[in-house]
Amino acid sequence: MRRKDYVPPLQEGLSGTAALSRWETDLLILGAGVAGVYAALWAEAEGARTLVVSKDPLPSGSTPWAQGGVAFPLDATDVAAHLQDTLQAGRGLVEAKVARSILQEAPFHLEKLLSWGLPFHPEPVREGGHSRARVRHLGGDRSGLWLLRGLLGRLSRPPLQGYTALSLLLAGDRVAGALLLGPEGPVQVKAGAVLLATGGFGSLFPISTAPPGASGDGMVLAWRAGAILRDLEFVQFHPTALPNGALVSEAARGVGAVLLNAWGERFMPRYAELGELAPRDVVAQAVFWERQRTGAVYLDLRSIEHLGERFPSIVASARALGLDPTTDLLPVAPAAHYVMGGVRTDAGGFTSLPGLYAAGEVASTGLHGANRLASNSLLEGLVMGKRAALAALQDLHGPPRQPQALPVLTAPPSLLPKLKPQVGEALGVVREGERLRAFLAFAEALPLEEKPWASREEAEAGSLLLLARLVAQGALLREESRGAHFREDFPQEGEPFHTEVSGSTLCRVPAG
Ligand SMILES: Cc1cc2nc3c(=O)[nH]c(=O)nc-3n(C[C@H](O)[C@H](O)[C@H](O)COP(=O)(O)OP(=O)(O)OC[C@H]3O[C@@H](n4cnc5c(N)ncnc54)[C@H](O)[C@@H]3O)c2cc1C
Repeated sequence: MRRKDYVPPLQEGLSGTAALSRWETDLLILGAGVAGVYAALWAEAEGARTLVVSKDPLPSGSTPWAQGGVAFPLDATDVAAHLQDTLQAGRGLVEAKVARSILQEAPFHLEKLLSWGLPFHPEPVREGGHSRARVRHLGGDRSGLWLLRGLLGRLSRPPLQGYTALSLLLAGDRVAGALLLGPEGPVQVKAGAVLLATGGFGSLFPISTAPPGASGDGMVLAWRAGAILRDLEFVQFHPTALPNGALVSEAARGVGAVLLNAWGERFMPRYAELGELAPRDVVAQAVFWERQRTGAVYLDLRSIEHLGERFPSIVASARALGLDPTTDLLPVAPAAHYVMGGVRTDAGGFTSLPGLYAAGEVASTGLHGANRLASNSLLEGLVMGKRAALAALQDLHGPPRQPQALPVLTAPPSLLPKLKPQVGEALGVVREGERLRAFLAFAEALPLEEKPWASREEAEAGSLLLLARLVAQGALLREESRGAHFREDFPQEGEPFHTEVSGSTLCRVPAG
């Protein structure tokens, strides 16, 4: 394939909006976090015309906020142990074949990134749920930022910033591009294939470690086009967020930080053999219950040497609250952190719709199951970003003549301050049937509207409201407790199954 410019500027009116620009490309990548940018690097290497867009200024998305690092198996013999840890965290819903293939491919990507000069720390560290120290950091606790900067620096054409995808274009049953809202107005991008890399939906929750732009847009674009979404009820809560939403990474517990309740008791050993290093769901629930029982939970980092050098972000976040972690206990609570569910893909990043691919947090590949193992997500973004880009290029169709833009799903942004606290109550760490039903009735009474065109804020509110409903429906259907989903009224695990939603149909699909 020869590289050409992707912007033939052709203006045309779109009723009620500024003039519509029409662009054309081979591969349109929505999102410029780790998955989107790494995918673009591989697509560029193939010589494909590639357009990457990000609604937020770079470095955007959750990627730059990642502190802990990237989990790579230590060597070929560690793949089995890493897989075992991943299976254990995922509580019966990890697709072992997919997970094994991702872990087997991981060392290739570490070598590639090292050969590009990315400054991985030579000593891996151990994080929650990992049986060995295999998480690689970059730049102290700013791993995601350093990773993303390193990748962005290698792109020959930087992502376009300030472009929000509002809906997908369809040509027959094939996804053929997207309708974007850019700084100059609407843009219709016709594409041979579209790769969703738009991240998760942490901002649905009142306390989240994810940035405000994490509104699950890609999942909603895919759902509106008819793709299958899977296991949306599995939202991982990070057990140790500060009151300002800033995260205190698991790595701190990996090097000795301990959790204390309001009475000064170290409680984790009562909940799990691994103590503070138990999987996130176990720690988040323990923190939830101890906060209820004793009124507060604190993280004690005072015994960690060289705290400022090892965890500069944590020290800065604590100082912003007037606390000094070398002498003070830090008050912590669970916060929405990572979405395990998403657009269902196969091991190559292909969704259930022709022309549509997904990678990173927007996707549900089967790696995480009911609970993500710490630091497996950046790894997944890398491996699946590459696979999805190459699979999309294999299946490229020439941009169609007259694709149709699907309507944009919208809601009034003014409803979000009402919606989020209710989400926190009903869809948080501990769920219960009556509360879920009441929440669903409330959310279904809020207005969700289809429009030919919308502002970014209306589209994001539409995404969040739809996802609130879908998460609640999945959580109601899942009458069991598994991984990150805990039902007070069904505290035991049942038979493993996935939930899948397509249009208005929600169903149980047996696992395996
Ligand atoms: C505080 C924090 C710490 C974390 N620490 C770790 C860690 O140590 N290790 C680990 O493995 N994982 C970690 N995670 C999770 C990990 O960072 C994310 O899962 C991962 O970065 C997601 O990458 P992504 O490329 O899928 O999406 P993101 O990095 O979230 O990027 C999404 C991109 O999509 C764009 N976008 C969204 N909607 C639209 C739209 N409608 N139109 C156009 N563009 C759009 C955004 O602007 C952005 O460019 C952490 C997450 C958080 C929040």
